[in-house]
Amino acid sequence: MVLAQLGGSISRAIQQMSNATVIDEKALNDCLNEITRALLQSDVQFKLVRDMQTNIKKIVNLDDLAAGHNKRKIIQQAIFNELCKMLDPGKPSFAPKKGKTNVVMFVGLQGSGKTTTCTKYAYYHQKKGWKPALVCADTFRAGAFDQLKQNATKAKIPFYGSYTESDPVKIAVEGVERFKDENCDLIIVDTSGRHKQEASLFEEMRQVSEATRPDLVIFVMDSSIGQAAFDQAQAFKQSVAVGAVIITKMDGHAKGGGALSAVAATKSPVIFIGTGEHMDEFEVFDVKPFVSRLLG
Ligand code: GDP
Repeated sequence: MVLAQLGGSISRAIQQMSNATVIDEKALNDCLNEITRALLQSDVQFKLVRDMQTNIKKIVNLDDLAAGHNKRKIIQQAIFNELCKMLDPGKPSFAPKKGKTNVVMFVGLQGSGKTTTCTKYAYYHQKKGWKPALVCADTFRAGAFDQLKQNATKAKIPFYGSYTESDPVKIAVEGVERFKDENCDLIIVDTSGRHKQEASLFEEMRQVSEATRPDLVIFVMDSSIGQAAFDQAQAFKQSVAVGAVIITKMDGHAKGGGALSAVAATKSPVIFIGTGEHMDEFEVFDVKPFVSRLLG
């Protein structure tokens, strides 16, 4: 179910409940079942949906709602709050400080949009007066350096990489050192992705992370991966200290569920979403407007 449909289904379920003459246990259950169905179809992990349903029932005690209270509003508010809670891990991610040295490492599976997102992130900050730089520590995928180089050149962002060096740790360290010397304040390290969550990918990631000591590790996830989102995000979190999430490909047929699952699995907030292939198709992620949109 694509995002707009998910929002439509949720608001329809609430609307149907409001149309009921009496909002009793049954009307509430029907509404929650509809919402549950919509969230599951949108690839939110089953456990998360079940927890949400339990929480709402705990909060909304129909017997305690005195006559005259707007039950629909109270239930709607509870649903809004629960969805916000699912997207808010409770603590903000590390915020890079302009003018200081910040090292940000990007991780994710191959094809997730990692390299594209590195440039978008750099470009976004450059427009705000930062001095970003890109380091290509992806020595696994042929063409990764060329892709980063092309993107970086287009955006006039300094970059570092090698056609011959095969040790990602060496490149990452050299790149970070060079850009520290050049007083760049946002040094972005793009790492290798693989098609699957292989042990060798995680080992390489761990080594790059240990050698460059990033201030922030950003996990990049393709929004269209469906129910696999939770396990994938968790596997990355277990290997490296993921501190924030960026969800890509939210344009087109994006489902909202992956975002909820990634937050739950990494206990880190979504900070941006990718909404297209172009450099400026990149938006700051904000929980409340996102949920408001969902609820229509
Ligand atoms: P990597 O292997 O993870 O580094 O992935 P790439 O950055 O090479 O991206 C893989 C493909 O996804 C490319 O064709 C990108 O143009 C595309 N892509 C990346 N982000 C987005 C996005 O937000 N929306 C869309 N529609 N395509 C994207």
